Amino acid sequence: MTIIPLSRPTTRADAEALDRADPLAPLRAGFHLPDDILYLDGNSLGPLAYAVRDRVRAVVDAEWGQGLIGSWNEAGWVELPRRVGDKIAKLVGAAEGTIVATDSTSVNLFKVLAAATTLRPERRVVVSERSNFPTDLYMAEGLAALLARGHELRLADSADELPGLIDDSVAVLMLTHVNYRSGLVHDMAALTQAAHDAGALTVWDLAHSAGALPVDLAGADADFAVGCGYKYLNGGPGAPAFLYVAPRHQAEARQPLSGWFGHAAPFRFEPGYAPAPGIDRFLTGTPGVLSMSALDAALDLFGAVDMAALRQKSVALCEFFLARVEATSGALGVTLASPRDAARRGSQVSFAHPHAYAVMQALIARGVIGDFRAPDILRFGFTPLYTRFVDAFDAARELQAVLAVEEWKRPEFNVQRAVT
Ligand SMILES: *Cc1c(COP(=O)(O)O)cnc(C)c1O
Repeated sequence: MTIIPLSRPTTRADAEALDRADPLAPLRAGFHLPDDILYLDGNSLGPLAYAVRDRVRAVVDAEWGQGLIGSWNEAGWVELPRRVGDKIAKLVGAAEGTIVATDSTSVNLFKVLAAATTLRPERRVVVSERSNFPTDLYMAEGLAALLARGHELRLADSADELPGLIDDSVAVLMLTHVNYRSGLVHDMAALTQAAHDAGALTVWDLAHSAGALPVDLAGADADFAVGCGYKYLNGGPGAPAFLYVAPRHQAEARQPLSGWFGHAAPFRFEPGYAPAPGIDRFLTGTPGVLSMSALDAALDLFGAVDMAALRQKSVALCEFFLARVEATSGALGVTLASPRDAARRGSQVSFAHPHAYAVMQALIARGVIGDFRAPDILRFGFTPLYTRFVDAFDAARELQAVLAVEEWKRPEFNVQRAVT
């Protein structure tokens, strides 16, 4: 059990004081957060912002309801993938015209991975991590099977192993910047450099980075990236994802899902495909305007937020929660499953517990919403736009309550559900 030095905040009054001093605290009022829960799962599904609800209503009533087909031009629907992409670009250190919002993260990963491997035709290896989010690995497997040219996935068992796996057979280093289970943050600049030194390209997945911590795609010299719209960006369930292509690759890179929205002149209806000159060639079909509009409105909540300030609050929230859990539940079977060093941890704190699924179900029944990741991880997301220090304090207290009386043993908490 960890003893917390007295200089560190430990009481609920300390948490309240931290909330009063928090410059981002007023942003919480922009979100609809039910009164009876503590929401620590914005890293899985961001909550509804009032501005998003209003925007969707307006798009449905006025743009679709009244404007009908004319809204493609009049309401700017056709520009949404670029406009939304440019808003995301500001959060991830990318220039205008390098990101489009489109499709899902999985589909975008397929597109950029195909483009990247095609730029290194003589190489056959994609390096990643066994602990990567499975869909990333599944999409790479699917692409390798389709290419049928002997491509292989070379998987590292730890982050430290990665540099040793990058040699001159490697076409692409494909990594998720912040690990979804542990929250471990990779050094994007250093690993991109290592890949480039070996003549390989990089594909970064920013699902747990965009809107969660500062990212500098241009500064890190990244080649390609993808990311998620419904987690920290609060775009709503199944929101469009995004993809990034460095300016130096945009003229050469080709993606295989060559649909008409990626054509140089879609409304000429030509029988042959000619890719659009810039990032637009990474579009495929008609965008989902309702969900794209929701994401567009959600991004405005980041409007004036300085990512350094956001990160500072995220680190403070995570440190506070981590210290409270170790002080109150450290002897009750939970062990830290995230890096202890805040600099190497994203905007989440994970703990391992042998009965993590049931423990999380018991917590949810008490109104503390985190999630479970197989096989044994309790995951708590600290999204600085709307999470308070008192939420961190109360969540730690509820966790202790669940563990102290082994509440998780109740049968109803041991029934597996489809989505965890
Ligand atoms: C959430 C997440 C995804 C989700 O992919 P979808 O295609 O939106 O289902 C992909 N990769 C990572 C790393 C994620 O965390």
